[in-house]
Amino acid sequence: MSKPNAENSHLLSIRNRILIFAVLVTVVPSLAMGLLLQNMLQSTIEEKVEQKFIDSAQIMEREISLWVKERVYDLNVFSNSSIVSDVVTDYLKRMEEGKNQTQDPASGIGMIHTYLTTLQNQFEDYVRIFILSRQGSIIASSGTGGREPPFPFPEDSVEQISDKQWFKSDVYIDPRDKSPLILIGVPLSLDPLYEYGALLVMETRVTGLRPLLDPAELGASGDSTYGSLVDMKTEQAFLYGRKARKGLKGINLALAGELQNLREFTGPMDERLMGMVVPFHELGWGLFIAEDYKTAFSRVIRSRHRNILIVCFFGVLMGIAAYLLTRQIMVPLSDLTRGAKRVAGGDLDVQLMVHRNDEIGFATSVFNEMVAELKQNQTKLEQLATTDPLTGLNNRKQVMTLLRNQYEYYRRYKTGFSVLMLDVDHFKAINDTHGHQAGDTVLKQVALIFQENLRNVDSAGRYGGEEFLVILAESAKDEAIQAAERIRESVENHIFVHEEQKIRLNISIGIARIHEQDGDEQRVVKRADMALYRAKGEGRNRVVYLASEDQTAGGDEKGADIQ
Ligand code: GH3
Ligand code: MG
Ligand code: MG
Repeated sequence: MSKPNAENSHLLSIRNRILIFAVLVTVVPSLAMGLLLQNMLQSTIEEKVEQKFIDSAQIMEREISLWVKERVYDLNVFSNSSIVSDVVTDYLKRMEEGKNQTQDPASGIGMIHTYLTTLQNQFEDYVRIFILSRQGSIIASSGTGGREPPFPFPEDSVEQISDKQWFKSDVYIDPRDKSPLILIGVPLSLDPLYEYGALLVMETRVTGLRPLLDPAELGASGDSTYGSLVDMKTEQAFLYGRKARKGLKGINLALAGELQNLREFTGPMDERLMGMVVPFHELGWGLFIAEDYKTAFSRVIRSRHRNILIVCFFGVLMGIAAYLLTRQIMVPLSDLTRGAKRVAGGDLDVQLMVHRNDEIGFATSVFNEMVAELKQNQTKLEQLATTDPLTGLNNRKQVMTLLRNQYEYYRRYKTGFSVLMLDVDHFKAINDTHGHQAGDTVLKQVALIFQENLRNVDSAGRYGGEEFLVILAESAKDEAIQAAERIRESVENHIFVHEEQKIRLNISIGIARIHEQDGDEQRVVKRADMALYRAKGEGRNRVVYLASEDQTAGGDEKGADIQ
């Protein structure tokens, strides 16, 4: 991985960390608050549901007591019939006499059988009506319809009767049609000392109670509430409301004793249910009542969804806010990084926009100042490296570089150029006569004369002690000669002054033009040097043009061409 990428990913990781932080700072407390509210709402609703269930159970218990009492009332009415009392009196008398009841049946038995059967047939729920002995053996019975005893005669019937003047058995199941049955009985021939000798007992179906278990009766608006009647002793449900069998069957009520608080169940179809067993105060029964979790807790579920939506909304909102904030930091920061990279790559023309008046804005302006300073220093250094300190002209290295560039340009675009080699005549004598300082002054002024006589496109440089090189860009031979002549004349006509000393001097100039055959820029310099040499040789203060190196003829002092 390259360095710039590493820097980018570094910046990105700062942004990501800020983003993650912002989202966490929003989402975590909102979630915690949401959960807290959720739990509070859940417990409130649980309490309400539980109370609703308990209320339903109380209503149901009242209805069932009424149902039982109606049957007890019926039995009491039947027991007042003279047929019944005759049979019982006869039976008791025989008992006293110690007669065997089965071998010597009472004469009234046939009648009582008909009577009891008639009674039984009047009511759909009644299965049988018996007259039983105190111990539970049958004295007389309605038609059995093919159904034979046994039936579960309750062991505590005596206690029940002394308690409330009637008794009932536990619920048991009819093996033929699987319907739940119960025995309800009242004492016969009750004397003032609560002594009795026989019982009038009905075996009845409890299916008549089923409508009480309808969802509407249980306080539900839809079909989402299920109920079943439970025998608290056996912890078995014996009667289910409409549809409830599907929803409740198979739920283990073995723990019914512990189920007296609202609990969550999984129904046989894997559905979530909230339910509880509410025991009745009497009868030994209870109501197992359950509701679909979704219906019971629809408000909790809705509020959970709303909370999730709110948390997501704020999470996204804070994410966007954090993104915009980090953008404000990251954009100038990455501008700075890019700028620093450009500077590191040597580009000092970098000025960054200062967007804001904050720490990053301050860092940016400090960066700008730093780059400006660097650029100034670099310009100074470049100047020092390329300029001759005495004359301010290009130094030899620089003028040779310019010449090289000119040559490259010529190679590409075929724009010819000329080179002048200039040397002060008898300069040693000036030094000797006026002093070295005067020599320096003269050199500076000569450089000024060059600059005055040259175009912007031309370049001049100090080639050696008092030797100069001039490049005339895009110049024809005649133009070059004219320019050289102009310079020579200017020098000749100039009066150089040093400390009130007036000095006159001349220069010699050699000219050469670039040739197609020149393999490099050195060739043209060499020819200009040869031309200068000739100018010196021919008497100085003159311009000599040299077309080729093997030329031998001399040129005239006014810059005549040497062909
Ligand atoms: P010619 O006409 O043949 O050129 O004669 P000349 O005296 O100019 O001869 P030459 O070119 O050999 O001498 C150059 C002299 O220039 C030698 C040196 O002392 C002097 N010189 C070189 N550089 C400087 C400088 O920077 N300042 C001064 N004052 N003199 C310099
Ligand atoms: Mg000289
Ligand atoms: Mg010289």
